[in-house]
Amino acid sequence: MEKDCLFCKIIAGEIPAEKVYEDERILGFKDIRPAAPFHALLIPKEHIPTFNDLGEAHDAMMGGLLRAAAAIARQEGLDEGYRLVGNCLKAAGQEVYHIHVHLLGGRGFNWPPG
Ligand code: AMP
Ligand code: ZN
Repeated sequence: MEKDCLFCKIIAGEIPAEKVYEDERILGFKDIRPAAPFHALLIPKEHIPTFNDLGEAHDAMMGGLLRAAAAIARQEGLDEGYRLVGNCLKAAGQEVYHIHVHLLGGRGFNWPPG
């Protein structure tokens, strides 16, 4: 728990969120500013600021996070496809410095992204 971290506060229940998934290591909740009909964020319960801070010890947790994303997509009926996005640092638009993977679905997506 990092005291000034928004997502750590959501994990601690200090800030409300609409949860879509939870296990021992991962939390999934709806994004407050949805960029698609379905938009959730998947985060580790451990405070890790950026993808650059991942170590080998996080490999299983990150694998679980991706499998959780696929399970949520299945549960939400995103059978046509969905997009996973991870923004790392300022140029990529990272706003919250606690690792998160966006799960977006329910519409089509362009490639390359903006
Ligand atoms: P990023 O730009 O990749 O760091 O994404 C941060 C995301 O967190 C944005 O899509 C925000 O809409 C979302 N966000 C910010 N505050 C909250 C909150 N209190 N609950 C849910 N999502 C949030
Ligand atoms: Zn945090």
